[in-house]
Amino acid sequence: SSERSLNFIEQIVEDDLANGKNGGRVHTRFPPEPNGYLHIGHAKSICLNFGLADEYGGKTNLRFDDTNPTTEDTEYVESIKADVRWLGFDWEQELYASDYFDQLYAFAETLIQKGLAYVDDSTAEEIAAQKGTPTEPGTNSPYRDRSIDENLDLFRRMKAGEFPDGAKVLRAKIDMTSPNMHFRDPIMYRIKHAHHHRTGDTWCIYPMYDFAHGQSDSIENITHSLCTLEFVVHRPLYEWFIDKLDIFPSRQIEFARLNLTYTVMSKRKLLQLVNEGHVKGWDDPRMPTISGLRRRGYTPASIRDFCDRIGVARRENLIDVGLLEFCIREELNKTTDRVMAVIDEKPLKVVLTNYPEGQTEIMKIENNPEDEYVTERDVPFSREVYIERDDFMENPPKKYFRLFPGGMVRLKGAYIIKCEEVVKDDAGEIIELRCTYIPESRSGSDTSGINVKGTIHWVSVPHAVEAEVRLYDRLFTVEDPSNEEVEGRPVDFKEFINPNSLQVVRAFVEPSLAHAQPGNALHGGRFQFMRKGYFCVDPDSTEGKLVFNRTVTLKDTWAK
Ligand code: ATP
Ligand code: MG
Ligand code: MG
Repeated sequence: SSERSLNFIEQIVEDDLANGKNGGRVHTRFPPEPNGYLHIGHAKSICLNFGLADEYGGKTNLRFDDTNPTTEDTEYVESIKADVRWLGFDWEQELYASDYFDQLYAFAETLIQKGLAYVDDSTAEEIAAQKGTPTEPGTNSPYRDRSIDENLDLFRRMKAGEFPDGAKVLRAKIDMTSPNMHFRDPIMYRIKHAHHHRTGDTWCIYPMYDFAHGQSDSIENITHSLCTLEFVVHRPLYEWFIDKLDIFPSRQIEFARLNLTYTVMSKRKLLQLVNEGHVKGWDDPRMPTISGLRRRGYTPASIRDFCDRIGVARRENLIDVGLLEFCIREELNKTTDRVMAVIDEKPLKVVLTNYPEGQTEIMKIENNPEDEYVTERDVPFSREVYIERDDFMENPPKKYFRLFPGGMVRLKGAYIIKCEEVVKDDAGEIIELRCTYIPESRSGSDTSGINVKGTIHWVSVPHAVEAEVRLYDRLFTVEDPSNEEVEGRPVDFKEFINPNSLQVVRAFVEPSLAHAQPGNALHGGRFQFMRKGYFCVDPDSTEGKLVFNRTVTLKDTWAK
């Protein structure tokens, strides 16, 4: 990374350091709202915040932005912590915006005392009408000129629970004619008689995002507060509150959020997919959540690599999911053992008629040709093996290099075989191939002089371990399901759900996988199934039944 030029955020940080700003400190924060599971977009923000602090010897806080009691939950808090740790980051402090409720309340009273905030009895509709439009100025609320004493009294009574939800709000007194809509007397506090996952029933008024976020940054002495582009228009307000309260001036810097093709990224939409059963849960391997990617077989390093490659931009863009797949494929190519799995509801049984009945031979098959020191494992071979139905054709086209009547093929790491006879059932379906093997053709000591073009994978029938394999496809059929129109009308993203995003298939795997476990130390629960792709053990696996997820195909089959 020392080779690449600085991104615009690093440039700001370096300028600040050069100017001695913040006493040379770099302190960032990752501020998730605990109202859902983290997704790959959050991973970008995490890598950015923690990465920047690492780079400049700084610190990063994990701050839960928990100011909205009705959508938040401790289940989400726990999953967020687990996901950040799994990605490989450790925070300086675990903090909660709700810990600042007393301080934020005091800030609000300070602004009232300065004549910069007032209690408004207008309804939500009236306030919306007062706001005006981006091209027309707004109008003052009839409650705007209440005295400081009256405002203080009413605000204290709001806090004491004297009024029902929606009866009153506290607004900043700024400028109803400002071209920036966020300056038109924004709401600071609203009444919500709701139980909060941490403060319980202590509060019945809650601060709005704009009145909580910047002040929380300031309380924590955050130097660089990174957020996504939609907050550009909030920045003047962020600075106004800090300025009027005369507190530590954290600086907000905006970057483009990550959007990925063929998926949705908003928590609200992801929650819908979960609640309506379009996926099995937040950690469904088709989800763009961190927990979904983890279950799919992604590694923390591959996600960090992806975030590194996309970098930071100041313009919204849509990143090809193929890049994310490239990152995991690169890593798994280097790290996984090549093993054999016949993935087929009805695998084809091959009987080697000239091979001694009841004999088992141990073949040595290399684990990973990419390893510096190649290791081998034992794979049993016998008179009967399974192959995939797709590796045989009764009437092959020219240049078909797999098995066909009279044809020869090499069984990977074992022998060359020749197809002598095709056995069919009464319905004409092929149920078995009777073949002969060439005894002198054993891999590693082949003296047969026979050259075959095709090599196929296989699994010895008596040694085979039955498993379930889950093959995943994109969750949506269009590149940008959040922003699709049909004949000029916007269409609900769920109409683009791919009905075939999950295919469950039976497989027979070699016995070395019999005790594979998710995250197993030896293999990390991840394998390359030769010719089939990269797979990992799913936590649904039980002693008697292995379940594998396909993480990614071997080659990019989606290339345009
Ligand atoms: P969503 O719209 O999915 O609910 P959010 O921004 O409301 O996302 P938060 O929990 O508030 O979710 O996000 C925590 C941090 O992660 C914020 O700083 C936010 O800007 C950042 N973030 C969220 N989504 C993305 C994304 N797609 N790309 C980059 N950063 C993101
Ligand atoms: Mg948010
Ligand atoms: Mg949100």
